[in-house]
Amino acid sequence: MDDDISLNQLSPFMNLELCDDVDYSPPTRTSSSPIFTTSTALPNGKKIALLKSVLSSHCEKYCYYCPFRAGRDFSRYSFSPEAFAKLFINLFNAGIVEGLFISSGIIHSGIATQDKLLAVAEILRRRFQFQGYIHIKLMPGCEKSQVEHAINLANRVSINLEAPNPERLKQLAPNKQFYEHLFLPLQWAKEIRSSILPRNFIKHSPPVSFTTQFVVGASQESDLELLTTTNTLFKQFGISRAYYSPFRPYPDTPLENHPPTPFLRQKRLYQASFLIRDYNFSLSELVFDNSHNLPLSQDPKVIWAEKNILHTPIEINSSDPQMLLRIPGIGKKGVKAILAARKQRTLTDLSMLAKLGIDIHRAAPYVLLNGKRQNYQLNLW
Ligand code: SF4
Repeated sequence: MDDDISLNQLSPFMNLELCDDVDYSPPTRTSSSPIFTTSTALPNGKKIALLKSVLSSHCEKYCYYCPFRAGRDFSRYSFSPEAFAKLFINLFNAGIVEGLFISSGIIHSGIATQDKLLAVAEILRRRFQFQGYIHIKLMPGCEKSQVEHAINLANRVSINLEAPNPERLKQLAPNKQFYEHLFLPLQWAKEIRSSILPRNFIKHSPPVSFTTQFVVGASQESDLELLTTTNTLFKQFGISRAYYSPFRPYPDTPLENHPPTPFLRQKRLYQASFLIRDYNFSLSELVFDNSHNLPLSQDPKVIWAEKNILHTPIEINSSDPQMLLRIPGIGKKGVKAILAARKQRTLTDLSMLAKLGIDIHRAAPYVLLNGKRQNYQLNLW
């Protein structure tokens, strides 16, 4: 089928767009599937096969890092909203995909392109009564009414900030204005979300969530700059997640000779952002090197623990949940398990923590059990 071929020509580029992908490899295709799909974890943890695609790989913008940039010579494809919605629903009815992530290159302005993306979702929701997962990308320069429409149709809405501030954006995307084109839609999303009426198109759906994405390593930005903006987005705009897309050079783009960003930098950024979002760390508690980057050598939680609790370990039997959460190897589930176990008995050795699912290899140097430090190296053997 021609449409399948077009979709598959676009798939290799879709790892540029991160959206709850279970891993960050490009979309894959099994022998039984005519198209490439991405394994995606929904906000509730359920894994689904997602169709990730752009509606059009034509674009009028000149972003320095992007393979879709105007003037680059490669085979381009466009779908009409009608054709794309039909293609998706056929794939859904055949059991090949369960949800949709839809973005697009920009043709005739962000507003005109946004209308097409909204039309795809509208056809799916209204005509085909599709109740599954839809993630809509907001286009730079879209209008407030379009943000509202997207919120009404989608499970998740996102806009790519690309860079942490206007100065860095200039080095990536000369045609985009940081505040007017990218930050303002996030501001509108926050306002609309706090006042929106129940959604018309999706039954039994949790509230829409918002995410953004940064391109990491293409504009000399530091991790501190990225995490400062991320912190603002978490605390003031209520976004669910920031994605960090490590820069990869594409031939025939202005940044084709720029070095790729190590995946380890992406991993450290995620670890730090989760400390801010889920573990109540403030930005000022994170440790940065002289270049304002996270050290690559260790997990930022371990670096904090080495500095702050290695010499004053945390008593597992009496510390409050927030302090327990700061111990490497203990996450939210571990804290719950410890609190429940403490009601039954005093925790006295590492084997009791191991039975609660705690990673004792990581936690042991920073804990007291019933007042005693643990000789964890001996215990491991
Ligand atoms: S607007 Fe989007 S698709 Fe177009 S060149 Fe920029 S990043 Fe690429």
